Amino acid sequence: MCIFCSIVKGEIPSYKVYEDDKVLAFLDIKPVNPGHCLVIPKKHLENIEEIDEEYLSHLVKIVKKIGNKIKNNLNVLGYNVQVNNDPIAGQEIAHLHFHIIPRQKNDNLKLFPQKNYNSGEAEEIVKKLIKE
Ligand code: 5GP
Ligand code: ZN
Repeated sequence: MCIFCSIVKGEIPSYKVYEDDKVLAFLDIKPVNPGHCLVIPKKHLENIEEIDEEYLSHLVKIVKKIGNKIKNNLNVLGYNVQVNNDPIAGQEIAHLHFHIIPRQKNDNLKLFPQKNYNSGEAEEIVKKLIKE
């Protein structure tokens, strides 16, 4: 069984911040900043492709709720919401989770380095992306 399923079952302890019958939110054991939360479906679903829209929409509602709490109650100015979807994207635990990472002034976190498109590249990519 995966670590997050064990957390859902209560077999591994966690600092829970929200729970209902479908969703659990708890503190990340190794926070990027204090208050870093993970929001997960209680059902074992590996990534965003596996969750149906209704369930995902409920999950995102909870992400928003916890985000508000982080902002209002932890006195931070903002936060990052991140899903590492699949191992290539840095997903280490194969159970879908949304990170909510509180941001502090001068926390020295760097977001992704960005690149430029070569000539014609953006047009090619858009063609592929709008295809059904
Ligand atoms: P990923 O890299 O898969 O997007 O993120 C997994 C996250 O789960 C990491 O930030 C890691 O610190 C957190 N994590 C791993 N094991 C545990 C655990 O046993 N308890 C809690 N609360 N968080 C964990
Ligand atoms: Zn799981």
